[in-house]
Amino acid sequence: MLVFKFGGASVKDAKGITNLANVVDQYKDNQLLIVVSAMGKTTNALEALTKAYVDGSEHVHSLFEDIKQYHYIIMAELFEATHPVFDEVANTFVEIDWMIEEEPHDDYDFIYDQIVSIGELVSTRIAAAYLNKSGLKTQWLDVRGYIHTDNTYREGTVLWDKTRESISKNVPALLQKGFVITQGFLGGTSENFTTTLGREGSDYTASIFASCLGAESVTTWKDVPGVLNADPKYFEDTVKFDVLSYNEAIEMTYYGATVIHPKTIKPLQNANIPLLVKPFGDPTAQGTVIGGNVNPVFEKPVIILKQNQVLLSLSPKDYSFITENHLSDIFGRFAANNVKVNTMQTSALSFSICIDHKEESFGKLIAVFDDAYKVRYNTGLTLITVRHYGETTLKYLSRGKTVLLEQVSRNTAQVVLK
Ligand code: ASP
Ligand code: MG
Repeated sequence: MLVFKFGGASVKDAKGITNLANVVDQYKDNQLLIVVSAMGKTTNALEALTKAYVDGSEHVHSLFEDIKQYHYIIMAELFEATHPVFDEVANTFVEIDWMIEEEPHDDYDFIYDQIVSIGELVSTRIAAAYLNKSGLKTQWLDVRGYIHTDNTYREGTVLWDKTRESISKNVPALLQKGFVITQGFLGGTSENFTTTLGREGSDYTASIFASCLGAESVTTWKDVPGVLNADPKYFEDTVKFDVLSYNEAIEMTYYGATVIHPKTIKPLQNANIPLLVKPFGDPTAQGTVIGGNVNPVFEKPVIILKQNQVLLSLSPKDYSFITENHLSDIFGRFAANNVKVNTMQTSALSFSICIDHKEESFGKLIAVFDDAYKVRYNTGLTLITVRHYGETTLKYLSRGKTVLLEQVSRNTAQVVLK
């Protein structure tokens, strides 16, 4: 059996949905489990809605109206007005109506997951209905009963044993009856609350299913020809890799390459399942095959850009050196607050760390260190990681910018730029 994943960009409009059906049709002799993300930029829009709701802003209603309209316009292109999918989608959106009528719960991350998850619940309803309408028999699966997580909202940790049991017990029989479509990015807790697996987590969903079902391969259908050496949004003359080793792909995603979610590769590597990255507009193209341990010759460096970074510097308030005890204390506090370190450096008197700037929780994070450390920070920075770099690449990328931190090892160079 095969696992397919369609990201938001590939289902951003009616044409995307018809194209999804076209791709599935070309593989209709296979057993397929199809993972779909929220349509287009819906997750961002639902994030904005969540924030407006928690802030008590009156915009919440117009933001919600825009999200609904965006979906209804797409649906009007795909279905006649009497199609039952309109009720299914309305019944899914109504969950948000119920939530925003109430006073917000005090756990932001909890509210976030209950609201933001609606994007995938709706997109999969639409895609399932369209596949069925096209004669491609498909069952809609609520992933929250299959991917079980703890209750770390916005970054649910997958409970593998329970997940493996649910998936392997029920899904193979469903796949015998037709295609199965389910939501990327979501999980469920033992109390039946919805969790999310971290932004862009639908790839990870595909990899979890593939691992539990012993899939032949996972294909992620993208709006790029495969894995490129740099993001074509920011760089010209990019090159596509035909093959990449699991380890190189892990390194790239770890440093922030957005083409694949960082948690995706490991479960596939453990089960030796290849990950194919293919362009959704050209299903027969070769794309990139990630698997094994053979790498291409890196004729051009791999460049990974992470924007909206903050560089935090911590110095002990007692003016002592940074000792191992300080480091252990600092890391303990970061771990307790789910902070992901993008790069870091120590000096005698301070410890610096570059992290993603999450505005809503940043104040809280700084306060965590206030008792024992002097905290300084710079926001609005860019972190550039270059793998297989040449001397000139770093200079070229840093031109006209202030370098706040630089770190160079044999294969990887990183700079934090202002
Ligand atoms: N829709 C979610 C996001 O945009 C998950 C995903 O796209 O993979 O983060
Ligand atoms: Mg998305």
